[in-house]
This record gives sequence, C-alpha cells and structure tokens, in this order.
Amino acid sequence: MGKIGFFGGTFNPVHKGHKKLLESVIRALQFDKVIVLPSRVPPHKQVDGLLSGKDRLNMCKLAFADIKGVEVSDWELRQSGKSYSVLTLRHFKSEYPDDKLYFIMGSDMLLSFHEWYCYEEILKLASLVCVSRKNEDTTSLLLSYAKTLEQKGGEVIIVPEEPFEVSSTELRDKLKKGQDCSCYLDKNVVQYIEANNLYHEG
Ligand code: ATP
Repeated sequence: MGKIGFFGGTFNPVHKGHKKLLESVIRALQFDKVIVLPSRVPPHKQVDGLLSGKDRLNMCKLAFADIKGVEVSDWELRQSGKSYSVLTLRHFKSEYPDDKLYFIMGSDMLLSFHEWYCYEEILKLASLVCVSRKNEDTTSLLLSYAKTLEQKGGEVIIVPEEPFEVSSTELRDKLKKGQDCSCYLDKNVVQYIEANNLYHEG
C-alpha cells in the first residue's frame, strides 16, 4: 500500500509557508507522492485580488518544482461549483483504491475542521496531517483537538514544526503596495508575478 498526500488551497499566491509545511510533512511521513490541488473559487465569491486558476496553478508548479514526488493537479480547477475536499477525496480514493490517503493542512484548517462539509466522511477517506502555522497553535493544543476527531474514528497526525507565520492575504496586500516580498516567495514565483504584472493596485 502506497502513501499519497493531498494538499489543497487557494494558493493566491503560493508562499514559503506552504512550501515549508510540505517539506516538513514529506520528511516526517515519506509519502510516495503528494498531489497539490489549487482550488476553484466560484465566480460569485468575491475574493480581493483572486487570480485565475491558471496563474495559481503555474505558480504552484514553479514553487514546488524542486520537491521530489510533488505533482500539481488542475483537477479541482476543472470541476464545476465549489471545491469541497470530500468530493476531491472521493475522486482520488477511486483513482488510488489500494493506497492510504493523507490530507495535509495548516493548523487553522484543523481547528475549524468540524465545520467542514461532510467532515466525518473525510475522516474515513483520509488521515489528516497538520502543521502549526501560528505560534499560539501549539502542538499540545493541536493534539488535544486531534483527540476529539479521533473519537469520531479519524486518524490525525500532528507534525511538530516551528511555524512560519505568513499568509497569502498579507502578501497580496504588500504586493499591491509594491513592497518587496522576496523573503516570503519562491524566486521563480516573484519573477512570474513581475512578468505577468499580477497583484497590482487598480
Ligand atoms: P489566504 O490568506 O488567502 O486565506 P493562506 O495563506 O491561508 O491564504 P491557503 O492557500 O488558503 O493560504 O492555504 C492552503 C493550506 O496551506 C491550508 O491548509 C493552510 O492552513 C496552509 N497554510 C497556509 N499558510 C501556512 C503557513 N504559513 N504555515 C503552515 N501552513 C500554512
């Protein structure tokens, strides 16, 4: 049985917090493959400065190109309607019926996981793998939260790691103001943003 990780997000833009998370969980769990899935955001949802799926997909390919075993997929972008993780995992479970699936996330996602659509089914389809993204989301807080999900039959793996506190929202704001974000973004992503004139004011 192989180990396949799934890592979804808006990635608007993909940043070093995403990359550090991915490197930590790959080091800890030795996946055979990790599939990164930029999510589709429906047209009626207003997200300040949301880039096209194509740009977000291209930036993920650039940012993760040097991590062995990572594949960036446009599967969620090709679906209609909202990207619900349960639908993605149902699909990939049918693609990989004999493998063990892992769903990778930052701590903000784990802490709101009980509000997700069909979260109990997600727990049956995949083990959750979580890394803290903020100093206040300590390993002990996450472990106690994991216990409540395990009581519902899930498996939750907390990978202890020093948080890298950055968000795409913060970076969109800085980029809009023309501030330098090169310490938070992969250099190829910086080049892509510049070459395509993205995240500019107005
Ligand atoms: P936004 O600010 O636009 O909401 P974001 O920075 O939270 O974006 P997403 O693309 O929504 O990024 O996140 C995708 C996944 O990566 C989520 O599971 C999220 O918890 C995780 N993640 C995002 N930033 C970090 C970080 N700095 N450290 C660890 N995990 C992170």
